[in-house]
Amino acid sequence: MLSIKVMVSGGAGYIGSHTVLALLEAGHEVVVLDNLCNASRESLRRVERLTERSLTFVEGDIRDRALLDQLFREHVVSAVIHFAGLKAVGESMEQPLAYYENNVAGTLTLCQAMQAAGVSRLVFSSSATVYGAEAPVPYREETPRGQPSSPYGASKAMVEQLLEDLCYSDSTWSVTLLRYFNPIGAHESGLMGEDPLGLPNNLMPFIAQVAAGRRQRLSIFGDDYPTRDGTCERDYLHVMDLAEGHVKALEHLPSSGVSCYNLGTGRAISVLEMVERFVAVNNVPVPYSFAPRRGGDLPAFWADPGKAHQELEWQARRNLDDMLQDTWRWQKQNPRGYE
Ligand code: NAD
Ligand code: UDP
Repeated sequence: MLSIKVMVSGGAGYIGSHTVLALLEAGHEVVVLDNLCNASRESLRRVERLTERSLTFVEGDIRDRALLDQLFREHVVSAVIHFAGLKAVGESMEQPLAYYENNVAGTLTLCQAMQAAGVSRLVFSSSATVYGAEAPVPYREETPRGQPSSPYGASKAMVEQLLEDLCYSDSTWSVTLLRYFNPIGAHESGLMGEDPLGLPNNLMPFIAQVAAGRRQRLSIFGDDYPTRDGTCERDYLHVMDLAEGHVKALEHLPSSGVSCYNLGTGRAISVLEMVERFVAVNNVPVPYSFAPRRGGDLPAFWADPGKAHQELEWQARRNLDDMLQDTWRWQKQNPRGYE
């Protein structure tokens, strides 16, 4: 595979930094653009340390058109992987405008700058949330988008639509939408991982912080769902598998038009199973209690990852124990994250 020079927006964040590492390991060149609103510059220093390769970092915002024009003038890239955006579902209910501005208007500005610079190949971070509550499980790409349950989800669906319309209008564009299920885990070195600011919204970092003694106990939201044990089921995948999925997507961008892939394992695990397995494989207690359901949560969904396997030659290789051990190694070695 020839080396591709790629701009990675949001590349200092959780999934972005692991993807930058996988890109460098695959021999590609990387320019990261990140405003550091939810990330630390240190994540990329660790990427350079682990890969023994260097990357270019530009601190800035995808909504800043002048900066984007300058970036594309100074760095001749042939593709963009677009992670930058806000991602907290609950916060999006309280601040919808911030979500539409960063995620939708930000993508619009990015695409306009790409068009002006003649860069028309894009991989976009979408989410399983675009399937909505009514889609049959496992989720398949041919199922039409549903009604997302939050402004965050709606912003992802709007960007998918925007990118489809763009490709329809102009056959020089080539876009791959990646719909992630639940990424967890950390790089196996223990040097990189998820570093949420403040109270974690997501299950895995919350479990890790309880295990580390930073939080007293985990609240399991709901024990009366119509599932195996009454708690919600999700398709958790290792962040390094997800990162490698982006490398495949970049290398297999369609010659023209939009492609869309689920990135998941195809297996659903319940919240209770996650907690019990974390305790067993890491030999550390995680006190928990049951709490009321969290608004907007669906009982159970998981991916049919067959299309990504067939067309991208990608499948998740790491198992649940890898995800839980790698999470704990990162948490233990970096109790305060990248601080
Ligand atoms: P993250 O917050 O760690 O990474 C996002 C990065 O974008 C951060 O480094 C942040 O500083 C940067 N950023 C945010 N707004 C920006 C802006 N306007 N300009 C420049 N940089 C900006 O989140 P993540 O978990 O790595 O998620 C990456 C992408 O994947 C997001 O688009 C997210 O919505 C999507 N996604 C995440 C999940 C998940 O569970 N983590 C699931 C599905 C989709
Ligand atoms: N969850 C929980 N306690 C927490 C955080 C999450 O019980 O402190 C549950 C949540 O209700 C959902 C599952 O864990 O059923 C996964 O939630 P997460 O926010 O990690 O991912 P989501 O699927 O909502 O994007």
